[in-house]
Amino acid sequence: MALRATLHEVGGRLLEQLLNADGGGYRGPRTACGQGHQATFVEYRRKEILTVLAPVQVQRAYYHCGPCAAGVIPKDQALDIVGTAFSPGVRRLMGRVGGKEAFAVGRRDLAELAGIRVTTKAVERVAEAVGAEIETLARQERTLALAGKLIPFQPVPKLYLTIDGTGVPVVPHETAGRPGKDASGQARTRETKLGCVFTQTRLDARGRPVRDDGSTTYVGAIETAEAFGVRLYAEAVRRGVQRAAQVIVLGDGAAWIWGLAAEHFPGATQIVDLYHAREHVAELGKLLYGPGSGEATRWTAARTADLDAGEVERLVAALDRLRPRAAEGQEATRKAVGYFQANAERMRYASFRRQGLFVGSGVVEAGCKTIIGFRLKQSGMRWTVKGANAIIALRCAELSGRWEEFWEARSVA
Ligand SMILES: [Zn+2]
Repeated sequence: MALRATLHEVGGRLLEQLLNADGGGYRGPRTACGQGHQATFVEYRRKEILTVLAPVQVQRAYYHCGPCAAGVIPKDQALDIVGTAFSPGVRRLMGRVGGKEAFAVGRRDLAELAGIRVTTKAVERVAEAVGAEIETLARQERTLALAGKLIPFQPVPKLYLTIDGTGVPVVPHETAGRPGKDASGQARTRETKLGCVFTQTRLDARGRPVRDDGSTTYVGAIETAEAFGVRLYAEAVRRGVQRAAQVIVLGDGAAWIWGLAAEHFPGATQIVDLYHAREHVAELGKLLYGPGSGEATRWTAARTADLDAGEVERLVAALDRLRPRAAEGQEATRKAVGYFQANAERMRYASFRRQGLFVGSGVVEAGCKTIIGFRLKQSGMRWTVKGANAIIALRCAELSGRWEEFWEARSVA
């Protein structure tokens, strides 16, 4: 510990000398402000910057632009420290921990692992700023993809798009006027929509599909189905959807998912996630026959067999034969009939399996847990939509293997 501190101190002093070797980035008495005016040199100003080594004092030439009524510090721009007291390296670490764990835990890890001491609020602000920047770049990328200017990867035989939604707890003003399920009638969560794109080339020895290694990327946000549709479509374009021999959309029964699929991916094979469908059967069995009863088990097993075989008509006929006495059972049965009838063509599981397709969206389920659940749904967390979306963008980039790419892209900019 003592040795590390010493090395950091020595490194910090060297860095400080290096950063001040230019005398402050003086550009002469006048310099362009960036908005088409000339800013005038005022004086040299010092600022303390926290770097990964140590805090350092940096001397910078300060200019003032009259028309903009704002200061201009060319050296801050060169060092990428405009409006911040943290070096890019420290901000990267703050983004990393803030994306991974609760901000307070991230603050402790930074101190413990890197000897970097910052406040919890600073971790939150910087991580959200990094996420917002990632989203800005993602938006530019979407524009390029939609304009046909992104060259896709090599052609892929099968491209899967899996879609899911999950509620994220938000602060009260984010749900004002939105009806909720609990007693207060006020919603406490907002739905995050998550899409996952992956490719599949081969089958294993038993004929089951295998997801291509490293082929999974994620996009997500708390936003309308319409906005999310564009987000997912652009990602699909980037991943080569236009050159894919087969496109498969996997989701639960939610209507917005199939609306989105019809709009952006016409001709795609639509599949209702088998595990979601089975859950509907199991829930109904429990409701009608009582949880854990022999009758529930037998009935559920038989109906699940219908479902697995893609015999949706047989399943619906069996539901039609039910004569539940309780109103609750009648209502649930009626809903189940509607659900299975509406999705019948998306539940031809035997046929999908023969084609060597995935029929369960385990990937996106896991994605929802990993990207959203583990980070955004811990007890006591309450997000603003802006804050949640920044962290979701950050996590999607990281879990898509694009974190490094982001930092490289912004260092060039
Ligand atoms: Zn100006």
